[in-house]
Amino acid sequence: MIPSLSSESLEAWLLWQNQLQFFTFDENFVKEINSDIAEEIAKSFRKTGFVSVPQTASFSASTIVKSTGEPIDESLPPLERVRAKAERCSACRLAAKRTKMVFGEGNPDANIMFIGEGPGEDEDLSGRPFVGKAGQLLTKIIENGMKIPREQVYIANIVKCRPPANRDPMPDEAQCCIGFLKEQISIVKPKALILLGKVAMKNLLGIESSMSKAREATYEYDGIKVFVTYHPSALLRNEAYKRPVWEDIKKAMKYLGMM
Ligand code: SF4
Repeated sequence: MIPSLSSESLEAWLLWQNQLQFFTFDENFVKEINSDIAEEIAKSFRKTGFVSVPQTASFSASTIVKSTGEPIDESLPPLERVRAKAERCSACRLAAKRTKMVFGEGNPDANIMFIGEGPGEDEDLSGRPFVGKAGQLLTKIIENGMKIPREQVYIANIVKCRPPANRDPMPDEAQCCIGFLKEQISIVKPKALILLGKVAMKNLLGIESSMSKAREATYEYDGIKVFVTYHPSALLRNEAYKRPVWEDIKKAMKYLGMM
């Protein structure tokens, strides 16, 4: 039996376990490990509110959202319905420390959708994507480079809640959250997706190669052309990425007939 767990020690234990062997806290996880331990973890989850674990063994994000929130107003526009679900979501450990869920924003009929990895501190506080330094750089790329207002594109992330200390989202967090992004993509139906950085590339396309290699090609997701490039925060750290980023953006603009 695990002695009483504080939320910090529980998270540290889970992160350590996840480094040894990737898992998702679902029915299979419960089946695979000692049931006493699983029940202790589940109890602690319930107590600390890390994950809203139902009493019965049913752990899918949509079940949790449906079982814990007010019914979603079906008269809302499609994107707002998805936002309402994400606002009630506590399906992964990132819910515990978020200030605001960062759903995404922009034109619901956008031709271009930018996808990053997850909110940072500024985004967590404001509830808006890409508003910190990296976000300001992305806005410059859109407005000064592509010559369109930021409001004309749609911007979202792989995970909707801030990973602590701006670490990359863990595989199980991304897996848990990506359904919301997939719904956003299928509602907006952009003509082109521009993935910013390796986390977006890995989780949407399943590609794990280096960015320098991956950006030599274009891809498809659900019939939509996909371009990959460096995350603006990498650009802030290393100016040498400026040129390749601009080349990637120009590729997307050419495809969309913008130049
Ligand atoms: S990151 Fe996504 S899956 Fe995790 S709690 Fe936030 S909205 Fe839910």
